[in-house]
Amino acid sequence: MGRVRFSWKDKALFTPGPLTTSRTVKQAMLCDVGSRDTAFLEVIRDIRERLCRVAGISSSSYTAILMQGSGTFGLEATIGSVIPAGGKLLVAVNGAYGRRLVRIAEVLKIPVTALEWPEEEPVDAGRVEEALRGDRSITHVAVVHCETTTGLINDVEAVGAVAARQKRVFLVDAMSAFGAIALDFEKAGIAFLVSSSNKCLEGVPGFSFILARKEELVRCRGRARSLSLDLFDQYEGLERDGQFRFTPPTHAMLAFQRALEEFEAEGGQAARLARYERNRDVVMEGMLGMGFRSFLRRERQGPIISSFYYPRHPRFEFRRFYDALSRRGYLIYPGKVAQAECFRIGHIGRLEESDMEGLLAAIREVLEELGISVPLTEDA
Ligand SMILES: *Cc1c(COP(=O)(O)O)cnc(C)c1O
Repeated sequence: MGRVRFSWKDKALFTPGPLTTSRTVKQAMLCDVGSRDTAFLEVIRDIRERLCRVAGISSSSYTAILMQGSGTFGLEATIGSVIPAGGKLLVAVNGAYGRRLVRIAEVLKIPVTALEWPEEEPVDAGRVEEALRGDRSITHVAVVHCETTTGLINDVEAVGAVAARQKRVFLVDAMSAFGAIALDFEKAGIAFLVSSSNKCLEGVPGFSFILARKEELVRCRGRARSLSLDLFDQYEGLERDGQFRFTPPTHAMLAFQRALEEFEAEGGQAARLARYERNRDVVMEGMLGMGFRSFLRRERQGPIISSFYYPRHPRFEFRRFYDALSRRGYLIYPGKVAQAECFRIGHIGRLEESDMEGLLAAIREVLEELGISVPLTEDA
């Protein structure tokens, strides 16, 4: 039986989560805590309060709810708990994560309309407004902030303004953007925003969090289509005795509390965004310099992750490329674009310019090893 062997040195993860975390975030997990112990309840309380601070929202109108599981569990908890029987969801879709929101609604048998754009184009709020005017049965609108499929950033505030004008409840999947890309909750009219522990806040996987407008949240009692993923019940439990209803990911939460401290120490959202933008710029310049082509137009390329076309070269095979980079300690990410063969390079996690340069050097080396000469040529 084969066994996965881990070397003493972690590989650098150029992925959208799980991602590279600091040594101190990992060390914060070397501790067993009781899930109903006072010390741990203080960790929960502190994390909820810090999340509101990161979001720039007041705890009188918003609250932070933590939910076990990966980001998708938080999305499913939200969609399944906030849309009432007789409600209908409109999802603005320009990538795989938008399609996943549609899929969640379908599985839960919630009526849903997908309004689609090509993956290289941002969602257009004007078309969302037309759709809302045309279908009065739609009660909720959802959009993805950073479409991690491509790295494109959607204009959440514009879509939110339309939802507010048309009096619909607005949901945001800000999984891969929250903490790095600023968002004005009030201005965007956000009722529910979902993100998770292992994206821009640089914790380890284990839970998602939902920032919810209380006024909207209190209407959700009894709407959930699931016991464990009942957002309102989870909130009520946290408010009542400060506890999770079911076993929380204690270690992941200790790591996350530490990650939030490090986020503040780094300089908060603005500093994190600046580091990710620098990472992106270094990667972009290096990759284009080698002759790779980026999937998105330059001005649409966000700071979270970038998508590149496979080189058109007979010797290029993604799996071999990936494995050779992995052997050198660099993990890139396979593509998710529906219509084109691409791979992705993430710019988030505890990585900086020198790590990006290390990756670029490794890519050059690997191309040479595969017998592909640099710079790549269009007709190769
Ligand atoms: C990462 C991510 C998710 C959630 O993925 P999980 O694997 O369930 O954590 C959802 N939406 C977006 C935009 C993401 O980047």
